Amino acid sequence: MKVLVTGGAGFIGSHVCKALAEAGHEPVVLDNLRTGHLWAARFGPFVHGDILEIERVAEALKTHRVDIVMHFAALAYVGESISEPDIYYRTNVIGSLSLLNAMRLAGVSRIVFSSTCATFGNVDRKIGDNEAQNPINPYGASKLMVERILRDYAAAYGIGSVALRYFNAAGCDPSGELGEVHDPETHLLPIALQVAAGTRSQLDVFGTDYPTPDGTCIRDYIHVCDLADAHVAALNVLETGVFKAFNLGNGNGFSVRQVIDRVEAVTGRKVVWQAAPRRLGDPPLLVADATAARVKLGWVPRFSSLDDMISHGWSFMNNQQNKLAAT
Ligand code: UDP
Repeated sequence: MKVLVTGGAGFIGSHVCKALAEAGHEPVVLDNLRTGHLWAARFGPFVHGDILEIERVAEALKTHRVDIVMHFAALAYVGESISEPDIYYRTNVIGSLSLLNAMRLAGVSRIVFSSTCATFGNVDRKIGDNEAQNPINPYGASKLMVERILRDYAAAYGIGSVALRYFNAAGCDPSGELGEVHDPETHLLPIALQVAAGTRSQLDVFGTDYPTPDGTCIRDYIHVCDLADAHVAALNVLETGVFKAFNLGNGNGFSVRQVIDRVEAVTGRKVVWQAAPRRLGDPPLLVADATAARVKLGWVPRFSSLDDMISHGWSFMNNQQNKLAAT
């Protein structure tokens, strides 16, 4: 199938393009390259464009005879969403609405949407697909609004959608071909790896007084290649006029302190860290119950060990540095 992948030059989008191509599909990347990388858009045609440009997106859908859209293009930093809600609602909500309307113009009626565990807010147990969604930051709220729009577009216009709610995406393609490169980097795992590699002096641990066993936030890390596999599997469950949602995680929670310990063990390097104030918008605990994804998508994670995610990220970072050193 021909799949338009918005944000296909980004971290998760590029891994999904590779998985689609390997499964015999044809990804077409649409990306404005504001945070994505052209080098990562290598698995099919590339369209330089923005999801807010309805006519341009409709044109791309028609020109490339697209069957299905996978929508990753978004802003995704919790902290930034609190200080800059305007750009979050504009990009994530209005951008998604524009994309859906471009799909209607072009007669494309199926979409897989990149949603998030941040739609849930504070929940003190494993989070299943039917848990109440009460986001505590604009990022999570913006994604929940799109889920609502997708439900309404399914009912009114017959657009079939699957929202995949990721817990914490981590790791990278084991071949080292793709990886996580953000500027600025804000995510825990790549920052811890940078400190281990000596390219960053220290890691700030945001909050050491949470109601968790060691006082730091607990997250459920999921390998980006496992996320990518779930997207390919989602193609089989898209149904006209129906909205479906699945949580994607491993069901294992790791605190920030535990992640630091594992990074030190896997890399054999010290990760210098200091306690810092809590980051606004962070719930203490986010751990998935992804039973439904396993049963209904037939999804089986290949790299559920945190150590695998760390070692793949570490290899990619070292390859990047070797390449930079050689240029
Ligand atoms: N975190 C941290 N220091 C950092 C970056 C992140 O302590 O420099 C914490 C953050 O507060 C959260 C966890 O690590 O509890 C995961 O954050 P990340 O930004 O990687 O992912 P998010 O949960 O925001 O999707």
